[in-house]
Order: sequence, then C-alpha cells, then structure tokens
Amino acid sequence: MRQLTVISGKGGTGKTTITAAFASLAKNAVVADCDVDAPDLHLLLSPDVQETIDFHGLKVARKREDRCTSCGVCRAHCTFNAIGEDLDIIADRCEGCGVCEFVCPEEAIDLVDRLSGHAYRSVMRFGPMAHARLDTGEESSGKLVTLVRNLARRTAMDVGADIVIIDGPPGIGCPVIASIAGVDLVLVVTEPTLSGSHDLERILGVAEHFGVPAVVCINRYDINQDISDRIATHCMERGLDVVGRLPYDNDAIRAMISRMTVTEYSEGTLSNEVRTMWERVRRMLG
Ligand code: SF4
Ligand code: SF4
Repeated sequence: MRQLTVISGKGGTGKTTITAAFASLAKNAVVADCDVDAPDLHLLLSPDVQETIDFHGLKVARKREDRCTSCGVCRAHCTFNAIGEDLDIIADRCEGCGVCEFVCPEEAIDLVDRLSGHAYRSVMRFGPMAHARLDTGEESSGKLVTLVRNLARRTAMDVGADIVIIDGPPGIGCPVIASIAGVDLVLVVTEPTLSGSHDLERILGVAEHFGVPAVVCINRYDINQDISDRIATHCMERGLDVVGRLPYDNDAIRAMISRMTVTEYSEGTLSNEVRTMWERVRRMLG
C-alpha cells in the first residue's frame, strides 16, 4: 500500500480541489483529510459517517472538592490564569501542565482526559474516507492527524486498498510533519505568487529534512508566467519534477459550488490536466 500526501505551504492554493479530484480518479484508494483544524474535503466528497471516535488532546485539571481546603496554592502557581478567584478550574484556559496537581498539598487535583474533537471513519462515493474535526480552541492537532492517518491505514488494509491519498494541512508546523512522516511521496501544490514561491521553499525544506520525496504542481500557472517559469527552473535545479501546470479555470469554482470534483464536473482543460498529473503521480508511486 502506497501513501501520497498533498500539501501546500499555505492555504488557498487549490490543494483540496486536487486531492478530491485524485480521490475520484483513483480506482482503489482510501482518502484521509488531515487538515483537522479546518477540514473541507467533506464538502466535496459528502462522506457518510460510519463510526465516530472521541479524540482526547491535552489533559485538563479536575479538582476534588471533598479534599480541597481552599488554601489557594494551586491558583498562585498556575501561570495560565486557569484557576479563578473562587479556586474553580477554568477548563477552557487549562493547558494541562500539571503544576497544580504537583503543588496541591491535599492531593485534591487530578489531570483527566479532555474531549478535544472527533475522528470519523466514513464512506463516500469513491470509497472509504477518514477525517476529523478538532474542537474550536483545542490543540494537539498533530496528534489528531496521526489518529486520522492510522484510521485510514487500517481501513486500507481492511479493504485491500492500494493507496492512501492524504489531504495535508497548510503551513509547515507539527500537523504537516505528522501528515508527511513515512509517506511515499508528497505533492506540493503552489501558485505563482511571491508568497507562493516563498512558502514552496519552506515546505520543500520540511519534506527534504524528513527524507520524503517531493514533486510539485503549479496551480493557476498562467496568472503569472514569469514566476511560474522561475518556480519550474528552481525545481529543475533541485532535481524536483513539476508534475502539473494547471491553468486558471472557473471550472474549479463551478465544481466546488456544485459540490463535485473538477474531474466529475467537466471534461475541460483543467480536468484533463489534473487527469494527466494523476497518471504521472500514480506511475511515480509504482
Ligand atoms: S492547592 Fe489543593 S487544596 Fe489548595 S486550593 Fe488548590 S486544590 Fe484546594
Ligand atoms: S494544569 Fe496547569 S494550566 Fe491547568 S489549572 Fe493546573 S496549573 Fe493551571
């Protein structure tokens, strides 16, 4: 079983459009939406949830009133202002650091699991899908990404899928690292803008650091041909394949409004270029 992650250095480059199109072109795949902070692949793929799994991120402090003597030591040591004047714990502010548990002379505080979101095992029209949602303000999205990837991998083994296609989060942080660790290939989607090429450089650095092979897609390449050419030249100098140059095409927006993938929506130029890119990526994965 092979694993492909589609990533971009920043949001809005068309990464999810491309992942969804790949999902519709792959014959025997499991799709994983690892953009757990702001998932949107489900809007195009309309998954039917089969199983919901609670996700526990950080711990949260819990006070046992029967033991508390209201001495205030915990409040004096909490640097996150998560213990109020009434000495109640304000769960939304608690970072689960455990200092209050350590300093409490009455052993009146425990750290307990905190529900931070949910992961889902689903089925959509192209096959199985794993996805998740992190609750607002919660952290540990890297841990949730790993949970989604494990769900996808187990599902792929259960159904005998030959590829897991992962929609990675934007940026270069912990969730991105969790989404590319150990995959066979990353497809970096960029756009020909100054910020796009800057972010491309950063994300390629991350992939290189973790030893993951990378290829590049320049989306909306025709909005600035000069920068597109510079990106292509730079990739060539680094020995990276540019596997796709996708034109600006309103079909991408029309397909999204219709909640379809661009390859389902039309047989136009963009759709054909995405198909060609998928065949290239498929061959690279072996
Ligand atoms: S340190 Fe312990 S005993 Fe003192 S106020 Fe906090 S919970 Fe109560
Ligand atoms: S676990 Fe840390 S952040 Fe939470 S209440 Fe205790 S000291 Fe404050």
